Amino acid sequence: MISQNIPTPAKALAIGAHPDDIEFGAGATLAKWAANGCEVSLLICTDGSKGSWDPSTNTNELTAIRKSEQRVAAEELGVLGEIIFLDYIDGELHAGVKERDTVASWIRKLKPEVLLSHDPWKRYRLHPDHHNAGQLAINGIVAARDPFFLTDSSLYPHRPSELFLFEPEECDHLETTDGYEKKKLNALESHKSQYLSTMGITEGNETKGLEDFRERIRKELIAFGDLTGKGMAEGFKRITEL
Ligand SMILES: [Zn+2]
Repeated sequence: MISQNIPTPAKALAIGAHPDDIEFGAGATLAKWAANGCEVSLLICTDGSKGSWDPSTNTNELTAIRKSEQRVAAEELGVLGEIIFLDYIDGELHAGVKERDTVASWIRKLKPEVLLSHDPWKRYRLHPDHHNAGQLAINGIVAARDPFFLTDSSLYPHRPSELFLFEPEECDHLETTDGYEKKKLNALESHKSQYLSTMGITEGNETKGLEDFRERIRKELIAFGDLTGKGMAEGFKRITEL
């Protein structure tokens, strides 16, 4: 049984491993919610410093570029909440207690109704940061909601009501995104430093490369949309027992 379209939450927090991950997984859904009054916040776990195939890249510069791209992307989505960069080293994200407590503190501070993140149980996905960011979101919920975690903090416990895992191993929830695919694409295309490595857009072939990339994203949205019978959608594993 696949559920569809929850009422727009008042607050949502999306947790991604790298700049651009959230847009790939849930960009259209977040744009839709933001347009309907949801205060969306983004938390990016790593500094994105390995997001280049060019060995001569200055990684400090790359990190700064990726942050500014993420801010532009958030604007494209209509994000009005916080944009938080935890700045853990790209490729070295751990789902440890220290990292969990940091994520849990942000959940307590921002009090999201819906939390969104990577599916840590997605099979055959290689990047360890994606698994660990998803695991941190889950562990962060447990630590945020239970009073005997973060005992040296003055922040009150907070229990989100929903967890949406994007790019899910098992999809059991769809958010229809008709009319929001352009915002998702605009947000994704804000990550210009990722054109080659993530989006397959090569120098000198930008026009065709961009067309192919847009087609790829539209096909993904249509594939989930087909599960609703028509239109476009993003798919999630929805967990409500938090
Ligand atoms: Zn990523």
